[in-house]
Amino acid sequence: MAIDFTFSDDVETARLLVKRFMKETVRPKMAELQGRRAKREEWGVAIRELRSTARKQGLWCPHMPEEFGGMGLGHTAVAAMSAEAVKTPMGPYIINCQAPDEGNMHTLLHFGTDEQKEKWLKPLCEGTMRSCFSMTEPDAAGSDPTQIQTTAVEDGDDWVINGKKWFTSGAQGADFAIVIAKTDPDAEIAQARNSAFIVPLKSPGFSIVREVETMGGGGGHPEVKYDNVRVPRANMLGERGGGHKLGQVRLGPARLAHCMRWIGQIEQALEMLVDRAQKRFAHGSLLSEKQGIQWMMSESALELYASKLMVLHAAYKIENGMDFRAEVSMAKHHVANTLWKTVDRALQVHGALGYSNDTPLAQMLIQARWARIADGSDEVHLMRIAEMVMRSYNETGSVNHAVGDLPI
Ligand SMILES: Cc1cc2nc3c(=O)[nH]c(=O)nc-3n(C[C@H](O)[C@H](O)[C@H](O)COP(=O)(O)OP(=O)(O)OC[C@H]3O[C@@H](n4cnc5c(N)ncnc54)[C@H](O)[C@@H]3O)c2cc1C
Repeated sequence: MAIDFTFSDDVETARLLVKRFMKETVRPKMAELQGRRAKREEWGVAIRELRSTARKQGLWCPHMPEEFGGMGLGHTAVAAMSAEAVKTPMGPYIINCQAPDEGNMHTLLHFGTDEQKEKWLKPLCEGTMRSCFSMTEPDAAGSDPTQIQTTAVEDGDDWVINGKKWFTSGAQGADFAIVIAKTDPDAEIAQARNSAFIVPLKSPGFSIVREVETMGGGGGHPEVKYDNVRVPRANMLGERGGGHKLGQVRLGPARLAHCMRWIGQIEQALEMLVDRAQKRFAHGSLLSEKQGIQWMMSESALELYASKLMVLHAAYKIENGMDFRAEVSMAKHHVANTLWKTVDRALQVHGALGYSNDTPLAQMLIQARWARIADGSDEVHLMRIAEMVMRSYNETGSVNHAVGDLPI
């Protein structure tokens, strides 16, 4: 078994280029716009320019194949890019690997017909369209997609969609949604009752019902309605009854992409903790000299290290076509909780300053909270991990298959 944690030269070069581009070009521009409280239109122009520069420099869509204008990198290399990009506000958007478009690109690449790729995937990759993913409903437990109430019924050459969704992140400004709806309510297997559809949001019958105010502020995750929305048959994505499977396949790379972005934030929070602790003096010594604070650092470091290993290993399994469900579930749960704990510790070490908006920590803590709910809540991942551990033990007499299948 060869264990090699170094990236090939071209990947390492690309990672360093992203890092430098973010540090030398994107961050100063963001700081300048923030500093002079630039108008919305000015932000728009600046962001378009930055995206254009990123594209010209070949730092674009790291997760997509070259034929779609991307960098053609594998999942482990994408992990490196994303972790660099996320350290800068808007970083993932500037290089076109932001949620939910990034997950939808993977889904279209995996399940789309040639026609669908041409019509929907290409513009996403070019950055001329935006998309959203519309699965969760206000009146049914999102943790259990077999309960989805939105229906899609055949009518001539069309499907007619009716239902309510919410937390369709990014629906405002998106050109289309990937919608999961019930097409086969009588299918024997509950997981075979839903199908996925590409729904242009200009379709008659689609509306944004309301913005959902969240602890992160307003906007971004609206409640939406599909009222007799018609789409042609050609807009079914994947096979009929394959909506559940599509959701699972989408969520593999999409969950991991979140983890990669969160790792960048964990590192940022830990660096802030270390920096502050070495400068703040109280009760006769620097905070960094107190064991209580050192343990915050070491626990965060331990958890960050485990996060990186889990993400790299799960990415390796996806990249090599291996079963990745247990590893992605574990990574998602572990990294989301590490983010929450590390940002909280960093905020604590900053005292009142941490609670203020003078540092990014307060906002980071708010953002960190949803990581434990979206893309599978903590408890659902724990449930799935337990199922996989028991299955592995019962089928093979060992739990190893469910804990990475590593040769140790
Ligand atoms: C910021 C944010 C962005 C989101 N973006 C999107 C999006 O773009 N598209 C989309 O479709 N959805 C999105 N979601 C929705 C998200 O996927 C759902 O919130 C999630 O699937 C949980 O569903 P629910 O909220 O209905 O909670 P429920 O299913 O009602 O579950 C509530 C709680 O019950 C507990 N629970 C559930 N099952 C079990 C179990 N088996 N054992 C023990 N406890 C359990 C968990 O604590 C869970 O958090 C987003 C959510 C957030 C917060």
